[in-house]
Parts: sequence; structure tokens; C-alpha cells
Amino acid sequence: MTATIIDGKEVSSKLLESIKKRAKAMKEKPGLAIVLVGNNPASEIYVNFKEKTCKEIGFNCERYNLPEDVSQDELLRIVDDLNQKKSIHGILVQLPLPKQINENLVVDSILPYKDVDGFTPVNLGNLVNDNNVLEPATARACMALIESTGKRIEGKNAVVVGRSSIVGKPVALLLLQKNATVTICHSKTKDLAEHTRNADILVVACGKAKLITKDMVKENAVVIDVGINRVNKKVVGDVDFESVKEVASFLTPVPRGVGPMTIAMLLDNTLMAARRNLR
Ligand code: NDP
Repeated sequence: MTATIIDGKEVSSKLLESIKKRAKAMKEKPGLAIVLVGNNPASEIYVNFKEKTCKEIGFNCERYNLPEDVSQDELLRIVDDLNQKKSIHGILVQLPLPKQINENLVVDSILPYKDVDGFTPVNLGNLVNDNNVLEPATARACMALIESTGKRIEGKNAVVVGRSSIVGKPVALLLLQKNATVTICHSKTKDLAEHTRNADILVVACGKAKLITKDMVKENAVVIDVGINRVNKKVVGDVDFESVKEVASFLTPVPRGVGPMTIAMLLDNTLMAARRNLR
């Protein structure tokens, strides 16, 4: 069989259209602040995309470019100003941050109701308690792409490869909320293929180029590839796309898969934050 390719660009365009319409009907524009520290080329590309899309759908977007050697105190002061700013409903601090800065401290300093990345302990804790407020954008993106296939999640075996707090764990929690039976694999998992071969739904977020090959995937599985890896100047996922498409029923490509959907979800979170704030 050949998998149906889930076009993340197409699915996200529909969501962005709907966000644009809903935003237009509001008395005030939703406002997103994006803070970028240093000159990490990958971060710069992500931030450019976020800013561009944000403006295209009519949001107010404020971008703060800070030097690589900015002090932690200065960054915390900027976040605090944005916390107070009425026209800003969402704050995004692009990760990773330079060594001199304690990432957790900065993320924790964002007001939970402006935390449109869903990374603060309050929002992650809400997820654990099935009391979702602002969910991490990439995890929401994975769920939306799985749901776009029309396949049922309840009762299925779902396997997540990767256990980061920003992707792997939140995706696992969202799948659990939808009544999948969830296994989380990581770098110390003994026999990765034994687990992945059991997955009806396989989400891969480990940052290892083409780690998942055809022999590791169950026939008819839905496979979501979160990975972004640069190999020989090309961007590839964590899944070996060419071989896995022969066995999966649905598969996301890289690029044009989870990436564009993540940006749409970030803006949907911003819209949600703005609506709650302007009520
Ligand atoms: P992290 O590096 O924080 O986490 C990677 C996880 O993968 C860890 O839990 C690690 O295990 C696990 N892992 C690493 N190697 C293996 C292996 N050989 N077998 C099984 N598990 C393994 O990465 P992120 O979660 O931040 O990101 C994952 C990938 O997704 C990256 O490529 C990143 O660029 C991409 N990404 C894409 C986004 C998008 O919008 N498309 C958004 C965010 C990330 P352990 O915990 O034991 O170390």
C-alpha cells in the first residue's frame, strides 16, 4: 500500500482562514509578542515564519530581537513588560536560549494566560489534570493532523518516540485524553522497534534523521513525523519517508507536515488568549 500524505500546509491554511475570520470580528486585534535572543539560524527561520503568518492573518505582531549576550535580568524585565502590556495577549520566547540564561526561569515568568506556547508549569499541569487551557502548539498540531485522517483514536495503541516537555510528553497526554493506550519511548528504550511495530498511531519527535524505517512500522499505521533535521543542506524528518510510505496508511511529510500546523496552532492559541482577555 502507499500512504495518503497528510498535507499540513493545506490543513493549516483552512485553520488560518478560520482564525482570520474570527479575529476580524473582534473589537481589538489579537496581539502576539515574539522574543528572539541571538542569531541561531534555525530559530530565526521559525520566528520569521511566525511573524509573517501572524501579520497575514491580521494580528498585531511585535518582534523583539535581543543580542546573544543579553542578561537574564534584562530578558526577565522585557517579559514582565509584555505581561503588563494590554495590547499583547500572547508571548512567545523562542527556544533555545543562550547558556547564560535559565530557560525554565524565563518560561515560568510568562503569565500563564499569555503563554501561547503552553510551556509554563501551570499550563502543563492543567494538561496533566485534563483541564486544558493553552496546550503546547506542536502537540495540538499532531492531534489535529491525526484527527484530519478521520481515523478513531479511542482504544488504539499510540506510541510516542521522544519525551520532551514541549513535544513528546504533551502529545502523549493529549492522546491519553482521547482514550488511546499510550507508550512513550526515549533514548534508553531497549527495543524501540518492538514498541513502534505495535503502534496504530505513531508520533515521532526525537530529532534523529530517518530513525524510523519501514520495518519498524505496523501495516496501516498513522505516522506523524515531528522531526526537523538538516542533512546535506536538506530538511528531513525523523521518519524515513520513502520506505515508511509503503506501509503506513497516513503519513506527514517534512517539510509541509507538522511545521505549518504548529504555527497555525500557535496563532489559534493567541486568538483564544485574546478572546478570554477581551471578554
Ligand atoms: P528533544 O531533544 O528535547 O527531545 C528528544 C527526545 O527524543 C528525547 O526524549 C530523547 O530521549 C528522545 N530520543 C533521542 N534519540 C532517540 C532514539 N534513538 N530513540 C528513541 N528516542 C530518542 O527534542 P524536541 O522534543 O524539542 O524535538 C524533537 C524533534 O522535533 C526535533 O527534531 C525538533 O527540531 C522537532 N520539532 C519540530 C517542531 C515542529 O513544529 N515541527 C516543533 C518542535 C520540535 P531522552 O529523553 O532519553 O534523551
